[in-house]
Amino acid sequence: MTRLNQTIEAIKSEALAALDQAGDPEAVKALSVKYLGRKGLVTLFLRNITALPPEERPAAGKAANIIKQELEASFQAAEKRLSTPGDQQESGIDVTLPGRPAPVGTLHPLTRINRRICDIFNRMGFNIAEGPEVENDYHNFEALNIPKNHPARDMQDTFYVSDNIVLRTHTSPIQVRIMEKHAPPIRVVAPGKVYRCDSDLTHTPMFHQVEGLLVDTNVSFGDLKGILTAFVQEVFDVKTSLRFRPSFFPFTEPSAEVDILCVMCRGKGCKVCSHTGWLEVMGCGMVHPAVFENVGYDTSKYNGFAFGMGVERIAMLHYGINDIRLFFEGDVRFLGQF
Ligand SMILES: [Zn+2]
Repeated sequence: MTRLNQTIEAIKSEALAALDQAGDPEAVKALSVKYLGRKGLVTLFLRNITALPPEERPAAGKAANIIKQELEASFQAAEKRLSTPGDQQESGIDVTLPGRPAPVGTLHPLTRINRRICDIFNRMGFNIAEGPEVENDYHNFEALNIPKNHPARDMQDTFYVSDNIVLRTHTSPIQVRIMEKHAPPIRVVAPGKVYRCDSDLTHTPMFHQVEGLLVDTNVSFGDLKGILTAFVQEVFDVKTSLRFRPSFFPFTEPSAEVDILCVMCRGKGCKVCSHTGWLEVMGCGMVHPAVFENVGYDTSKYNGFAFGMGVERIAMLHYGINDIRLFFEGDVRFLGQF
């Protein structure tokens, strides 16, 4: 029995070694005939089992049949593999495997909020305008009624490129550039990056603002309140109360800061609103006549209002984010949530 098993094992090893050398489907077919065909070596072995002593036959037959099946499977697999077109076979690509899903990115939360803000004003008839991030002193300060040595320059920690060139500290210079080029009526919002030398939990050296400007005849503070109320209720998806708090900006008079009822506690007082129940969301006011004079508008005929808001601030309140730096760390675990 042992001797016979060794013989059938030897046939199997020889067959598999030959199969390894087979370079095309025809060679495999020939081997199949040589080992498994009607006069094949395995077939002959099985036939010769009857010549064995009766007690050895069952074990030898069983072993031979198992090897026959193994060889059949190996020949079939080899034939299939060699029939596959060369390019697919060599690169090891199995075209029957399911594809790997390609990771799809999402829009950055600031992009989403920026688009949302612009979209709301767009529907109210405002166009979108843009301007340079590297700005001259005149457009960033002087034309906006902030002359040199004016104390208001201290309100903004400016990055100076040279004596006369700055990284814009707000999007307001875009207002000036629009008015220099176009006569009233004007209705624009200007989104963009702005830069200030400031960094902590709620400030980053670069952040985003959206500026708005409307110039026409007979514009009142009531129009400003109406537009901003409609905007705030839409951007936060809630009917919220607003309050206009008197404030100061050199380029608007009168000026106000806009607070909304805290979106977290609805005015009861919480950590986010420093227990005041109110959240500051933007600055606004009627455009200062000096600004109109700088761009050559007739101040007896035209007036208007301007407003500006921080996109990060709106995004933090909208999504309930408490650290502004998360927006700029590029952590996909954070960014993937939006
Ligand atoms: Zn609150």
